[in-house]
Amino acid sequence: MTSKYKGINTKLVHAGEPRPLIEGAVSLPIFQSSTFEYGGSKQNGPPRYIRLNNTPNHTALHEKLRLIEGGEAALVTASGMAAISTALLAVLKPGDRLMVQSDLYGGTHSFVTEDLPELGIGVDFIDTNNPSDWTDRLSENTKAIYVESITNPLMKVCDLAAIVAFARDHNLVSMIDNTFTSPINYRPPEAGFDLSLHSCTKYLNGHSDVLAGAVIGRRDLIEKCARKLIHLGGALDPHACSMLHRGMKTLNIRMQRHNQNALEIALFLQQHPKITQVNFPGLPDSPYYSLAQHLFDGCGGMLSFEVEGGTAAADSLIAKLQLPICAPSLGGVESLITRPATTSHSSMSSQDRQKAGITDSLIRFSTGIEDAEDLIHDLEAGLSRI
Ligand SMILES: *Cc1c(COP(=O)(O)O)cnc(C)c1O
Repeated sequence: MTSKYKGINTKLVHAGEPRPLIEGAVSLPIFQSSTFEYGGSKQNGPPRYIRLNNTPNHTALHEKLRLIEGGEAALVTASGMAAISTALLAVLKPGDRLMVQSDLYGGTHSFVTEDLPELGIGVDFIDTNNPSDWTDRLSENTKAIYVESITNPLMKVCDLAAIVAFARDHNLVSMIDNTFTSPINYRPPEAGFDLSLHSCTKYLNGHSDVLAGAVIGRRDLIEKCARKLIHLGGALDPHACSMLHRGMKTLNIRMQRHNQNALEIALFLQQHPKITQVNFPGLPDSPYYSLAQHLFDGCGGMLSFEVEGGTAAADSLIAKLQLPICAPSLGGVESLITRPATTSHSSMSSQDRQKAGITDSLIRFSTGIEDAEDLIHDLEAGLSRI
């Protein structure tokens, strides 16, 4: 059985698919049914109900997600934030402390700074690139450490193997948001992380048409997350399950293209006279290049850069581009462009942004799967007119 599922593309297409096929349907049908006939005392497991995450659409996705990332178990959720908040609430209790990287995804940042303290859970921010800071922040109540595989929007990478080793040494649950790398470029359970979290809204679905999330990792912890999710009610609807399921089948071929396109664009931007800075861990000049080469099978489609001329020039470039759509979010087949100071990081004060190294003129680019040549021509034309 397992030998059938060795390669990633085969897993993406076949893992978790029901055998025998249901009524011969080649594509798993959508079970748009909130509840299912009860099988009496002979039924294995609890009644089937959408909120219990156990309809055929959920179980197929769980198996596919588990196998592509090498985890013991997986759970799909109604959004990336449902995955993150549910997992943190499953792992932490009042009196515990959480160690987190300082430049977190905005939604996660507000959850850990606004909601966790209300529940009596303490939060300590760490500089992930400075291990002595981790030891300094450690207390006997620290129960978990939480990082992101590539940070937003500066695309920093930290020594994730050292994070895993630190967590093991100090008996912490290690958690990572693996959204930016996707299971193609990095598989946290294989690298020793206890829990890997995803916004499946991004690369896993890949078509900017679904909101979903996932938690993948240690079976005992996934069972805790599943119980918490049932209480919090963040189940994924079967129709969205089906959309995600379809999107995932092409994940590897899309990711290879995202990886390649972003690298070509980063190389183009780096040599352009009007560009003063390019942040992409796949660039040989990046301070994170060797870490990324060591950890990842690719650097994904996300990059950020600065143009000469500040905010006005940045806005002018975004307005002149024909292909990338100016919109937040990422990981879809179409390229998206934003200025984080006005979108993902607009709730931060300009001063806090400055401290975090996010200038008001920084541009973030989510590279789609268009032809790199066309994207580069578009950027070249835009840059020549600002
Ligand atoms: C988008 C995103 C999330 C939140 O996911 P939703 O699906 O929007 O809830 C979490 N982490 C990262 C890194 C993201 O990009």
